[in-house]
Amino acid sequence: MQATADHALERAWEVLESVPDPEIPVVSIRELGILRDVRRAGDGQIEVVITPTYSGCPAMSQIAEDVARALDAAALAPYRIATTLTPAWTTDWITDEAREKLRAYGIAPPAVDHCGNCGSPPRSAEQPITFVAKPKPLPAPACPHCGSKHTERLAQFGSTACKALYRCIDCREPFDYFKPY
Ligand SMILES: [Zn+2]
Repeated sequence: MQATADHALERAWEVLESVPDPEIPVVSIRELGILRDVRRAGDGQIEVVITPTYSGCPAMSQIAEDVARALDAAALAPYRIATTLTPAWTTDWITDEAREKLRAYGIAPPAVDHCGNCGSPPRSAEQPITFVAKPKPLPAPACPHCGSKHTERLAQFGSTACKALYRCIDCREPFDYFKPY
C-alpha cells in the first residue's frame, strides 16, 4: 500500500478478492494464495501478480481470464497480468479461513507442515514447481464430514490432479483431499 490513497488500486484489490477459484468456487484466488499482488508498475499501469498452483493445473488460464473479466467489469483497464513462479506456490499459502471453507465444502484441506523453529514453510523459494507427490507418505487427512481420522485413499487423483480421492471408513463418505504441495 502506498502512503497516498490510490483508489483504482484499492478497487482492484476489492474486485479481485472476490474472484473465486474456478475449481473450488467457495474460496477466492486471494484466499488460496494465487493472487500475490496488485500494484502500480513502473509505467503507472495496474499490475496484477498471480502465481500458478500446480504446473499441471489447467485452471491457470481460466484464472487469468477471470481476473481480466473482473477488472474489465470494474472499468480498471488498462492493466496487465503478470505470472510469477518464484517463490513457488505452496498449499501453506492457503488462509486459515479458506481451509475452513474447504472443509465445509467437503474437501479435506491440506496439512500444514511448518518448521517447528521458525514457523515458516519447509520448502525453499528456489524449489522449482514440479508435478510430483511428496516423497514421504502423507498422514491420512481427517474426514471433512465427520472429523474421523479413520480414512483411506481410493485414488491418487480426485476430481482434479490437485486432489486425491479418499473415503471415510467411519461415515463411508468419499471426499477430495487437497494435497499438500
Ligand atoms: Zn467421515
